[in-house]
Amino acid sequence: MSGDKKVLLVTGGGRGIGAAICRQAAKTGYSVAINYASNEAAAAALVAEIEAGGGEAIAIKGDVGSEADVLAMFAAVDARFSRLDALVNNAGVVDAKARVDEMSAARLERMMRINVIGSMLCAREAVKRMSTLRGGEGGAIVNISSAASQLGSPGEYVDYAASKGAIDTFTIGLAREVATEGVRVNAVRPGIIDTEIHASGGQPDRIAAIRGFVPMKREGKADEVANAVLWLLSDEASYTTGGILNVSGGR
Ligand code: NAP
Repeated sequence: MSGDKKVLLVTGGGRGIGAAICRQAAKTGYSVAINYASNEAAAAALVAEIEAGGGEAIAIKGDVGSEADVLAMFAAVDARFSRLDALVNNAGVVDAKARVDEMSAARLERMMRINVIGSMLCAREAVKRMSTLRGGEGGAIVNISSAASQLGSPGEYVDYAASKGAIDTFTIGLAREVATEGVRVNAVRPGIIDTEIHASGGQPDRIAAIRGFVPMKREGKADEVANAVLWLLSDEASYTTGGILNVSGGR
């Protein structure tokens, strides 16, 4: 049980940007539910790290692109904490570098299922629990978009960029839909951030290749994205909803 502590669910929280958000949230005083897809070791190590620091965390396995998994994940949060105050829709995937005229239907379906439908399903379950219209006590959602939604990522992964464009629009629409129900919805658009996502898309040297095109001439750190997310979740952002914050070094 979390008692008086606020509860935050972070999808894809076991590694990368999600893990940085979980670490910072635990230090801020949240109890943290860490969702992961398959890397149980990373999520378990993060739970142990947070507990060693005096915080409270659980790891929950589940594919955000599966409705059954999403329902089970929120049920696990309910069972452990009996409350939910915040959601970060962070889980996301890229794919191999390709042109649109090379993309299979299976690739497009996976990209949209995880990045778009997954975020929408999780937001749906969070709103059911947080909206004052449904008996909740309010809360905050932050969706992790990408600078790609503005750039389009031609020749690399237009499908990924389009999935993040959908996240931007979803953020604006949901924010307005629940604005009088105590739920704020915002998004963060990271630029090029030093995580394993680039290698998972088959481009381990992507950061070195792109760094020079960033106005700040450097990649960002996961903690620099987490700083923005924690602010948007906090009461300091009490009048900010439907906002989309670039955390991209000017790119
Ligand atoms: P990452 O290091 O590859 O970590 C991805 C995380 O998402 C992992 O914890 C992974 O779980 C989880 N995940 C993947 N598919 C999932 C699924 N179907 N269901 C549940 N969890 C899933 O990625 P990252 O760089 O931190 O990216 C996090 C978010 O930031 C993504 O939405 C990404 O699009 C966005 N973003 C990243 C960058 C960047 O440069 N890094 C830039 C802009 C936007 P496992 O640990 O179990 O594999």
